[in-house]
Amino acid sequence: MNEFFLKKSKNNIWYGLFSHFYHAGIRHGISTRLGGVSSLPYMTLNLGMHTGDYPVKVQTNRQLFCNAVGVNYRSVVSAQQVHKDTIAIVTQADAGKGVDCYADALCETDALVTANPDIPLLLLYADCVPVLFFDPVQRVIGVAHAGWKGTVAQIAVKTLTTMQECFGSRSADCLVGIGPSIGPCCYEVDDGVINPLRAGFHDWEDVAAIHGERRWMLNLWEVNRRQLLENGVLAANIAVAEVCTSCNNELFFSYRAEGGCTGRIGALISL
Ligand SMILES: [Zn+2]
Repeated sequence: MNEFFLKKSKNNIWYGLFSHFYHAGIRHGISTRLGGVSSLPYMTLNLGMHTGDYPVKVQTNRQLFCNAVGVNYRSVVSAQQVHKDTIAIVTQADAGKGVDCYADALCETDALVTANPDIPLLLLYADCVPVLFFDPVQRVIGVAHAGWKGTVAQIAVKTLTTMQECFGSRSADCLVGIGPSIGPCCYEVDDGVINPLRAGFHDWEDVAAIHGERRWMLNLWEVNRRQLLENGVLAANIAVAEVCTSCNNELFFSYRAEGGCTGRIGALISL
């Protein structure tokens, strides 16, 4: 069974791992808010550059997290995430883009894919869904930022499709991890979210529980999981952390639980 578990590194950083990635030897982690140097409201391991936190503290936090996961900070590639569905194929020429400075990050990009073993990929979250990919056959990794807009745009499926088209990945070979994010316990939405979702997702009533007039509790984990199943990923290869960032606000940053002023957790993965 695929599980998500927390680990404390030698340098005191707590981060989450997916057991199937771990056993496949893939360096990866979902950071928590524990072990960094930032002060309230970014306390303490804020990895988001564009949050209002001091850049030098975010750089220190990112270095701490990279050291914990065992990747080279200088080679990390990050993006300016805009809740759309643009996916970047990351190459050696991109090494280090966005790791020190938000302005240098890949523009308007919400998913990253690479087959380069020297390039760690990093995306940032505070309630949106981190979706991590590893194809152990073609040796390709990916990471996607799936808030409700990205989920409606099927960014997880499009990331998988990019791995297929550019690197010959097969859906049935790919391992997927769906990380901590706002859960169906806390993610109340209105028809501004449900209407676009149901236009492209016929089982929408299975993933949205009615919660008052024109209000629903939406399960973004399950939408992303089902989208990937429909596109050939095996159920046994998908791990869902089932950890709600709002319920576990002492461990994870939550945009909703903290009224929008908060830090970001990171999803980091490297071949
Ligand atoms: Zn919750």
